[in-house]
Amino acid sequence: MLKLYNTLSQSIEPFQSIQPKKVSMYVCGPTVYGDIHLGNARPVIFFDVLKRYLRFIGYDVVYVSNITDVDDRIIDKAKELKIKETEITAMYTKRFIDMTHALGSFLPDHMPKATDYVSHMIDYTKELIDMGFAYVRSGGVYFRVGKVSDYGILSKQNIEELNKGVRIVLDDDKEDPRDFSVWKLTSDGLAYDSPWGKGRPGWHTECAVMNHEIFGSEIDIHGGGTDLKFPHHENERAQAIVHDHHPLARLWMHVARLDINEVKMSKSLNNFVLVKEIIQEFDPLAFRFMMIGHHYRQPINYSDELMDQYAKEYDKIKRSLKKAFLSISLAKAHTLETDHVQLDLFRQLMNDDVNTPNVITQIYDLLKQMNKEKDTQRLSVIYQTTKVILDVLGIMPLYELSDETLVTYKLWEEARTNKDFERADRLRDQLFQKGWM
Ligand SMILES: [Zn+2]
Repeated sequence: MLKLYNTLSQSIEPFQSIQPKKVSMYVCGPTVYGDIHLGNARPVIFFDVLKRYLRFIGYDVVYVSNITDVDDRIIDKAKELKIKETEITAMYTKRFIDMTHALGSFLPDHMPKATDYVSHMIDYTKELIDMGFAYVRSGGVYFRVGKVSDYGILSKQNIEELNKGVRIVLDDDKEDPRDFSVWKLTSDGLAYDSPWGKGRPGWHTECAVMNHEIFGSEIDIHGGGTDLKFPHHENERAQAIVHDHHPLARLWMHVARLDINEVKMSKSLNNFVLVKEIIQEFDPLAFRFMMIGHHYRQPINYSDELMDQYAKEYDKIKRSLKKAFLSISLAKAHTLETDHVQLDLFRQLMNDDVNTPNVITQIYDLLKQMNKEKDTQRLSVIYQTTKVILDVLGIMPLYELSDETLVTYKLWEEARTNKDFERADRLRDQLFQKGWM
């Protein structure tokens, strides 16, 4: 049975979907004002793996990840580049989609844009005010945190620690410093008419409303990076509790951070490496392999050496697969048959809170078996089993076998049989250059 860590209970729980064999999952997506960095790529990869695995074990998954396309940072960027905000968001949404593909992830089933839900956000805000959970001040509308009895339960383990990281917005207007903005009054940049004046929805309200509108009821999994626990997820949850009468999600999943030189990679610290830069230097799937090589709740301390090491390992994996594929093709021994014992082991490891590092160990074991297997029928079964696993992880390399390569391989085998070692070495070099050895 699948077990997953729930941030809310701080424990690994058996996963039970609300509806049988169906999973609804919402992951907070990017604010589109710049290219994504390696840290931003972590949830894009992890939740794609989780979705693929849930489907693999028979769930029908609806995966939603939003695009935040109204935000102060977008307005600042538009001013800086002297173009319209909508041009900024269109450009960076496209680039985000391109990077998602490049990282080997499928696009989520729905990618709602916050700006498409503004009228719903206004209605939701009105309702919060009518119910007494929000109030109007000169700066806008604020949520009354004190009225949610279990406020802080999601992030409580280190709420003070998290609080330190939160920008304190000086607003003496608020009833309680913890109250957050549901509607911000402003006419600077993209602004919408509302009963309280021109302004924009608050970020925490955007996600709460999109969840409410798209799913209409409690969802199975709500996810994001660990830095979203507080205040973002705590505040999304608080609004759903009072407005929608459910705590938004059963399971809260958070992906650990990616550090560089022991410091969190972030735009504000200017210590980031962009995904588009890394994939110019390395195979994007080698980068994905590096991410999967770490458990999703374990922080990654990124360095060039670490990436180099994983890129070399991934190259070895690719060569082993291609070599096996060549032998299987020559023997015309392709099969769809898999090794059930190995697939059971795979499920067992993934069911243990998505233990991808242990799956990588299993993959190495399969490759070892492949490298020494002389029987092509059996080799084909191991190859197919490995392929199924790599497909779930999204790291199966793509390659095509040309006739020329096949001929070279046959000639190489012949030369070896005839003990023409000089010729065999030359042919082997050719195959190695093309990655088939
Ligand atoms: Zn969100």
